[in-house]
Amino acid sequence: MSFSSFNLHPQVAAGILASGYDEPTPIQQQAMPAVLAGRDVIGLAQTGTGKTAAFGLPILQRLLSGPRGQVRALIIAPTRELAEQIHTAISELGRQTRLRSVTLYGGVGLPGQIQKLRAGAEIVVACPGRLLDHLGQGNLTLKHLEVLVLDEADRMFDMGFLPDIRRLLRYVPARRQTLLFSATMPDDVGKLAREILTNPVTVQVNHLQPLTTITHALYPVNGHLKTPLLLALLARTDTNSVLVFARTKHRAKKVAEQLKNAGYSAASLQGNLSQNRRMQAMAGFRDGSYQILVATDIAARGIDVTQISHVINYDIPDTPEAYTHRIGRTGRMERTGDAFTLVTPEDRDMVRAIERAMNTALERRTLAGFDYNAAAPAISKGGQNRPYESRAPRSPQRSPSSYPAGRRPSSNGAPSHAPSHAPAAPHSNGSASRSPSHNPAGSHGTPSGRPAANGHHAPASAHAAAQPGPRRRSGSR
Ligand code: AMP
Repeated sequence: MSFSSFNLHPQVAAGILASGYDEPTPIQQQAMPAVLAGRDVIGLAQTGTGKTAAFGLPILQRLLSGPRGQVRALIIAPTRELAEQIHTAISELGRQTRLRSVTLYGGVGLPGQIQKLRAGAEIVVACPGRLLDHLGQGNLTLKHLEVLVLDEADRMFDMGFLPDIRRLLRYVPARRQTLLFSATMPDDVGKLAREILTNPVTVQVNHLQPLTTITHALYPVNGHLKTPLLLALLARTDTNSVLVFARTKHRAKKVAEQLKNAGYSAASLQGNLSQNRRMQAMAGFRDGSYQILVATDIAARGIDVTQISHVINYDIPDTPEAYTHRIGRTGRMERTGDAFTLVTPEDRDMVRAIERAMNTALERRTLAGFDYNAAAPAISKGGQNRPYESRAPRSPQRSPSSYPAGRRPSSNGAPSHAPSHAPAAPHSNGSASRSPSHNPAGSHGTPSGRPAANGHHAPASAHAAAQPGPRRRSGSR
């Protein structure tokens, strides 16, 4: 199938060409005919599948005819990063159409957004809280709205936005086209979909299945050795652009600092940063000034860096869906990528849940030559070594006998805590632990040595809880 089969207006087709898309992705092939026909659509697709263009192109096509200067399409996204990403994608695809898109999200002043609204826009990409603020102040009207898109609806639910979404619906005409995209379909999202969509067409792509171009590996390790193992992995792996996930804001910040201290160009992306700093971190990661970005789940939502070579879960995610979302950041659009997850004995249940959801056993790997038996660093006053801690209280020297799925951190049955069983210098030519499909002990990947630039961060909150826990509100207002 080619894009020409959609009979798009030449100004829209020009955007496809400019964006370098050769042929439609599966979600585009499936969703675009229905969206172009004006149908309501539920799209079960994760980030990285091309879903933005799947709704963006038909919206541009539709808005080409009809009045200008009125808000006729509204896209609601859970985070500012995703809103910016959608705005950028649609602006690029629609450059020749001269249709205008504005973003509305919290963390930045209202006046600039009001000014852009006054200048006139046909497309608004917004986070729910700030959009409600603008609507409450009468800064825009949605009475001319023709298309409503809810993007990453499951994540909006996780972040507690569904009440805001229901409130927003009071401002939009009942007669409209509604599109809902979500990687998963929890009950509450299904209920919302039944309420707000009319006779929808459902299309599904890669639902819960991470892209097949990704190599997954688990690295069992005791909690106190996570950072040394991360550093060892980075030093021995040919990494290009690495996204590291940590469980909390504090841990993200701390790990980024440890990476910087080790000579890497790294930054953290977490909810304590001002919008400017977040944009700076994202831009630095995108343009390569930062080789490594350490993020929490919420902060990383919407990151679109197509050249991400590795996702490393410093902390295992809380749900299989979150695993899929995280891993979806690498291997985007058929590029290959590696996904490493550091797992502690306490992660056993989550490992099982992820393997069940993916319907496959994930490979366990050991890093040859790494001292899995090293002692925990001395615990300084005030819990200074917190990022090494695991979730459940436990002895830092816990026996490795209780690793996830009952396996020790050794692929060959050798006692994991006996580094002498492994080659001492595995760097240059492969190692006992290397799988045929992957090279964890590759020879390149030395720290880039680039100056750490400006990965400054706002002070971490005392409790540092940035997880996408059920119904937690993000600061996107
Ligand atoms: P999305 O899932 O919308 O975040 O898109 C993921 C990435 O795929 C983005 O970098 C898009 O620019 C890119 N993309 C979307 N559609 C296509 C296509 N048909 N061909 C190649 N790349 C695409």
